[in-house]
Amino acid sequence: MKVLVINCGSSSLKYQVIDSDSEQVLAKGLCERIGIDGRLVYQKAGLDKEITDAPMPTHKEAVQMVLDALVNEKTGALSDLSEIGAVGHRVVHGGEKFTTSTLITEDMIKAVEECNDLAPLHNPANIIGIRACQALMPNVPMVGVFDTAFHQTMPKKAYMYGVPYECYENYKVRKYGFHGTSHSFVSKRVAEVNGTPYDATKTIVCHLGNGASICAVENGKSVDTSMGLSPLEGLIMGTRSGDIDPSAVEFIAKKENLDMAGAMNLLNKKSGVEGISGVSSDFRDLIKAKEEGNERAALALDMFSYRVAKYVGSYITAMNGVDVIAFTAGIGENTPTVRKAVCDYLGYMGVEIDDQINDAVHGDEKLISTPASKVKVYVIPTNEELAIARETVALV
Ligand code: AMP
Repeated sequence: MKVLVINCGSSSLKYQVIDSDSEQVLAKGLCERIGIDGRLVYQKAGLDKEITDAPMPTHKEAVQMVLDALVNEKTGALSDLSEIGAVGHRVVHGGEKFTTSTLITEDMIKAVEECNDLAPLHNPANIIGIRACQALMPNVPMVGVFDTAFHQTMPKKAYMYGVPYECYENYKVRKYGFHGTSHSFVSKRVAEVNGTPYDATKTIVCHLGNGASICAVENGKSVDTSMGLSPLEGLIMGTRSGDIDPSAVEFIAKKENLDMAGAMNLLNKKSGVEGISGVSSDFRDLIKAKEEGNERAALALDMFSYRVAKYVGSYITAMNGVDVIAFTAGIGENTPTVRKAVCDYLGYMGVEIDDQINDAVHGDEKLISTPASKVKVYVIPTNEELAIARETVALV
């Protein structure tokens, strides 16, 4: 079956067409600047990218342009739209309502809408994408795959915050966690590669990208994760602060004369390694700056790895041990110095990586620990689109 995978943002739409039998990507790209002017990027497998500027007042026109490109006589990946057997939509927040991927129906959309206030920037955009696809492909089955669903197995002691219980009862304030599709995909894959049964392995997945989170996966179930009610909690990220004393937020807001929205903007968009270094959120820029003697870039890199190691250490305690640690996403797959720094903190418990192998791994699937290491350490490239396509096929 050919599956169209859609990941909608407020003014963007990323897509891939995946052949679920061969698991090959047939075409991929994105629509940008929806509602502003509009740009389509389209790439058929094996060919160069094509960029077309064209008006996209809404997501519906964007989806229409993607469909037109997919059946274009010269560069289309499909001969007819009827070849699309299903559409898989990434949906950011499923609250406590969705514990697995779900077939899209009117009731399901209503339930997603009820989660909108938990992810006011993301969920409405996801629903707009679903509606646009329904309008143009009314008879094609569609599935919603949630970032939060994988973490719904966390025990209550892990997901509750130490605030009045009524905040949970009345407003559902709790840790939800994100990147669930990636944590699920990578933890399954690393068990396969390691030759251990998924339901009898203790795994820690370090999803280190511009957004970054860690997940403790015990016997195939997420038991804790570093992001929270929103993606702001946990690790220091590209521009997000991660964990911070809430009193510091009030203190900064008073000093800088910021309202709540301004303070949240500072924590989400102006903090993280970019805010600390004053250089960039991109680890390639940070490493270059550090090599040139920039002390704040060096500090940002140190702080990033230290926070990752602290979370890994705490999840080893949460699971009373760990069999496998997996690094994934842009930084996890491509930055040997971060992997090395994190693993050095874990030397006390017998984690040892092979420096030569580690230094050579950029985006490949590879065991990077030494044979003597008490814990296996892997680099496992994540593939959220493929995971969404698999979930979609399983349900339709
Ligand atoms: P992601 O959000 O998973 O796409 O990861 C994005 C981040 O990965 C970028 O901001 C970079 O910091 C980092 N990254 C990607 N490629 C490389 C690379 N070749 N070397 C170092 N860092 C990289």
